[in-house]
Amino acid sequence: MALKCQPTASHFIDGEYIEDTDGKIIECIYPATGEKIAKLHSATPKIIEMALESAKHAQKSWAKLSGTERGRILRKASDIIRERNRELSVLETYDTGKPLQETLYVDATSAADALEYFGGLAGSITGEHIPLGEDWAYTKRIPIGLCVGIGAWNYPTQIACWKGAPALACGNSMVFKPSEMTPLCALKIAEILIEAGAPKGIYNVIQGYGDVGAKLVSDPRVDKVSLTGSAETGKKVYSSAALGMKNVTMELGGKSPLIIFDDADIENAVSGAMLANMYSTGQVCSNGTRVFVQSSIKEVFLKRFIERATKIIIGDPMDEETQFGPMVSEKQRDIVMSFIEKGKAEGATLAFGGNIIESSGWFIEPTVFSDVTDEMTIAKEEIFGPVMSVFDFENEDEVIARANDTDLGLAGGVFTNDIKRAHRVVDQLEAGTCFINSYNDAPVEVPFGGIKGSGVGRENSKAAIEHFSQLKTVYVRMGNVDSPY
Ligand code: NDP
Repeated sequence: MALKCQPTASHFIDGEYIEDTDGKIIECIYPATGEKIAKLHSATPKIIEMALESAKHAQKSWAKLSGTERGRILRKASDIIRERNRELSVLETYDTGKPLQETLYVDATSAADALEYFGGLAGSITGEHIPLGEDWAYTKRIPIGLCVGIGAWNYPTQIACWKGAPALACGNSMVFKPSEMTPLCALKIAEILIEAGAPKGIYNVIQGYGDVGAKLVSDPRVDKVSLTGSAETGKKVYSSAALGMKNVTMELGGKSPLIIFDDADIENAVSGAMLANMYSTGQVCSNGTRVFVQSSIKEVFLKRFIERATKIIIGDPMDEETQFGPMVSEKQRDIVMSFIEKGKAEGATLAFGGNIIESSGWFIEPTVFSDVTDEMTIAKEEIFGPVMSVFDFENEDEVIARANDTDLGLAGGVFTNDIKRAHRVVDQLEAGTCFINSYNDAPVEVPFGGIKGSGVGRENSKAAIEHFSQLKTVYVRMGNVDSPY
């Protein structure tokens, strides 16, 4: 039987699809049915070599184009992505299992936003003139060189472009390795960039498990590494990159707090908590999974949350009515289920869900624990699934201290109608990305990233330009050189 999403070949290098069947097999499974939809191969040393050589070579002439010329190609790619939104969204749904209701609005569209935004900025990447009496200096913002992008499996199209668009805008080239669980979408991005007029080799995609990522990171030809992944992988990749003194961006995991005060609008707070825990079946790095609710409103909050959670439409991700899909893999489903078991065993109250939904795919129920205490496993470790933990709190100082009591610092949110309190609280949250009376908005104009163990650097916005370019300073003497020798 023909596989539903079989690409022309596993890798896209130097403007074309290429295969090497000697590579370890990567089976691509549709998470909603467990069906095998594509078979790919992990990159062999020969493929890795081709991808790096081609990207190294292509970068030099790409960097010589004006920013406006580079930007025009990125914006063209953005237009093509928008024209093909449905086709790309369906592919994203096959790759991840996320419902079409989400992917039609969030994935290819945010990839297009990134290409459009950084395409627009490309012509304005400049240095400065520094007057020094008769002499002067100037700075140039130059590319870093050959960049490696390594992606997690939750947003394969978006991650491919959040890394690729700023890298290319700044005159770098990129070799991108998607997660082996979601290998399909980045290939389409590489193909579309060529169609938009990008020179061959500036954006190559190769498949592989962690070992392929590790080889890319340690290769001396690579100048920069941008990883989206777990904190644990982040430490390995960061230390390997450090040995080569490489520039890094690390977008890692979180265990983020969402604080709901008793003066908050309850319906909005419930909406925020839903978005912070159930969107993409909870597989979002910035999720606000530790929901601190002021004691006086805890019961009403939980009651409304559960009433609304009961109505979540779970099912076939290709049905546009469906709001909640499967976990990305059987392994991830089992990891999440083991956290649910630990939550029960350690004494949290299972207030909603908590079960596997019997089907051929990897579905589990939206799950809510209440009476969670700070030392429980589900309070401390990133679950990466639709499991919300609700904690009680009494006052502001107490909740801020508890919210910050984690090694991670990706995101945080507060719901309150007291504007002073809102700012006072987010000011004290040890998190890179905060929300007031909202959760998980990530427009391309706004910097995104974490502090503490959640990462280094920022994606999106003008800040990403700083992470994909470097400064060169030129001192210019106008008179004679005054030397004591
Ligand atoms: P992993 O850390 O397991 O993997 C991330 C990527 O790194 C994969 O492509 C993986 O390949 C690769 N990799 C694994 N080991 C190495 C290595 N030693 N050297 C180089 N590359 C390696 O993360 P997941 O894919 O499981 O994604 C979930 C995690 O990503 C969560 O912790 C989540 O919070 C985080 N994340 C962070 C985001 C952010 O922006 N801050 C956004 C989205 C997710 P392979 O899969 O083949 O092992």
